[in-house]
Amino acid sequence: MLLALLARLETCEVDAEELLLSPHTLNRHLYMLVRGQLSVQLASRDNPPVRYVEVNDCVGEVSFCDHRPPSAYVIASEPSRILRLHSRELPFLTQSPQLMQNLIELLCDRVRLTDQLIINSEHNANIDVLTGVFNRRWLEHIFERESARCAFNGRPLCMLMIDVDEFKPYNDRHGHIAGDHALCQVARLLGTQLRPKDSLVRFGGEEFVILLPELDLRTARLIAERLRQGVAQNDTIDTPIGSLPGVTISVGLARMRASDTLEDLVGRADKALYLAKARGRNRVCG
Ligand code: GH3
Ligand code: MG
Ligand code: MG
Repeated sequence: MLLALLARLETCEVDAEELLLSPHTLNRHLYMLVRGQLSVQLASRDNPPVRYVEVNDCVGEVSFCDHRPPSAYVIASEPSRILRLHSRELPFLTQSPQLMQNLIELLCDRVRLTDQLIINSEHNANIDVLTGVFNRRWLEHIFERESARCAFNGRPLCMLMIDVDEFKPYNDRHGHIAGDHALCQVARLLGTQLRPKDSLVRFGGEEFVILLPELDLRTARLIAERLRQGVAQNDTIDTPIGSLPGVTISVGLARMRASDTLEDLVGRADKALYLAKARGRNRVCG
């Protein structure tokens, strides 16, 4: 059976940059890479590859089976050799349970890979690129969940609004790249002192928000003070561009009230932050 299959395979050579599959063209082949490398690009040929096809991997199996156009561009990233099987040979494959099982396994791998891509992109959509902490999109999601959970259980929920002090002069003095390192350091210092159920979010520019579920105002204030001190005591930041002076933060604190929206809570934490700035910075208010 295998020999009969081999006899039905065609060998083809493709040059680097040559297009093998496109969503605009019906595909009639199942391809197996023998030498070289292929890249898979979604939506446009100009997008970066979502993955590479390595030697012994297959491509085109979905469109080979369903006779619909492929969902991705597959392009040779270097000169490559490929074995291909025409879709008119599908009835031949169906005669062999072993070959059918191989094909099913191939399709299962593809489904799992696609699920993983969705999981990765969902995760990335919630992460701030510079600091690696959650972004505002995540805050909206987690606030909805945590506020409902805390309200249902009759437990408090507190928010810290954190802003790096005099960060504009810091950037002006040390440069924007140094400022970026300082922001990452602040995110690390904050993140390592939190519980798994707390959410650290980069709210924008040099502002962070922390949601503290199930903590009353008094305990949240102690935590805010500990975070402020942790940042202030870190008076040098070691970075690939050298040692930089540390920064300080001001913190505004607010406790959720019944029927508070995210905007309401952010508004009150922001007011408390404004007070901390007005009273001289490097302090906690609220
Ligand atoms: P204050 O103590 O009142 O908060 O003073 P400030 O200088 O921190 O406040 P201001 O809002 O005037 O300046 C914020 C600065 O934060 C200006 C902006 O360049 C800087 N910043 C915002 N986002 C980033 C970033 O991603 N990287 C760097 N390096 N700087 C940033
Ligand atoms: Mg600010
Ligand atoms: Mg600031």
